[in-house]
Amino acid sequence: MKQLSILGATGSIGRNTLKIVEMFPDMFSVVCMTAKSNVDLFSKQINMFCPEIAVVFDENYADDLKKRIGKNTKTKIMWGKSGYIEAATCDLTDMVVSAMVGSAGLIPTVEAIKAKKNIALANKETLVMAGEIVMDLAKKNRVNILPVDSEHSAIFQCISGHNFSEISKILLTASGGPFFDLPVDEFLNIKPEDALAHPTWEMGKKISIDSATMMNKGLEVIEAKHLFGVNQNLIEVVVHPESIVHSMVAYKDGAVMAQMGVPDMKTAIAYAMSHPDRLALNQPVPDFFELGSLNFKRPDNNKFKCLALAYTACDLGGSMPAVLNAANEASVSAFLDNKLAFTDISTVNELTMNKHEIINTPCLEDIIKADSFGRKQAEDIIKSLEK
Ligand code: NAD
Ligand code: MG
Repeated sequence: MKQLSILGATGSIGRNTLKIVEMFPDMFSVVCMTAKSNVDLFSKQINMFCPEIAVVFDENYADDLKKRIGKNTKTKIMWGKSGYIEAATCDLTDMVVSAMVGSAGLIPTVEAIKAKKNIALANKETLVMAGEIVMDLAKKNRVNILPVDSEHSAIFQCISGHNFSEISKILLTASGGPFFDLPVDEFLNIKPEDALAHPTWEMGKKISIDSATMMNKGLEVIEAKHLFGVNQNLIEVVVHPESIVHSMVAYKDGAVMAQMGVPDMKTAIAYAMSHPDRLALNQPVPDFFELGSLNFKRPDNNKFKCLALAYTACDLGGSMPAVLNAANEASVSAFLDNKLAFTDISTVNELTMNKHEIINTPCLEDIIKADSFGRKQAEDIIKSLEK
């Protein structure tokens, strides 16, 4: 029985993780779960999975949650940062599913690694912000970081059993999002509801907007660089609108390994949860006869400026990716609140990066400062654009 702490249980990844737990009750149990504010769903999840600890964002949500779940539960309700860390480091936990969204996931994930918990990592922002620090820490603590992000899970599966030094290229696939074929002069009119309608994947709001700007793919290049310890020049983004090939790895003899499947995160989540075994998920195999063909296209960095910015941040390294990530969280949030135009997401991100003086080998404290700096600068720029 593997005991899980699920950070971000009410999110898209969290809910899919719980579906897998429900399918395999003899293999997994949930000892801790966390959410931010959706106490309605969270209370139902707690009643169903009976964790030891459940954590929400603040005391008000904790009070509300206590009222909803009643007195007869063994679950201890906690709140705030210390609660999240408790859930990430709990003695009973074998594996932490890191599935909060954004920079909030960094510290609980770092603390989980320090507590020698294996990590199923969905929260890509952790590696974007502090890839070197996190991977070093994992190595030191002999912790496995198993990718949940579908592309990274695909790469992980394509390199397994192969000689890593024989890789010639990593082909990171991207759906291209809802606007890949939209003329750039129509980008100005894009509304949050258009951007949230992803053609192939069902995801949380932030990552859906990141997919529409292709920032998600940029963040994934940085994630892959750290996770697999490769130079970013080895990673090429390939737009593949059907989202059937989840990524590919080419070897020096010309052989290319691809991992395929229907676009459903459960396969990647389950593989991280049960590696090296596979779970009988009963997922359908893609209907290749129905599909007929698979398409591959080159991304347009001039149209999708966020992708180009992520490459720049990745090249510059140090504290810059953390600043870009923070700026992007602020600009995406402002776009979702109808305070910023879609095309200004990249403008805000770029102007924020321009204001940052890079720290080349940052410690965790420097990363947290870079995150606050990026957020504050971006918010100021957003305000100036509003006027
Ligand atoms: P989501 O918005 O659906 O869920 C986020 C979860 O984090 C929720 O449980 C929410 O309560 C919690 N949360 C949000 N802000 C928080 C805060 N400040 N403090 C504590 N908890 C907080 O997001 P998602 O789509 O499930 O994505 C989660 C992570 O997984 C992201 O990093 C995303 O990039 C990554 N990811 C998601 C998918 C996907 O298909 N959804 C695929 C690959 C990677
Ligand atoms: Mg992905």
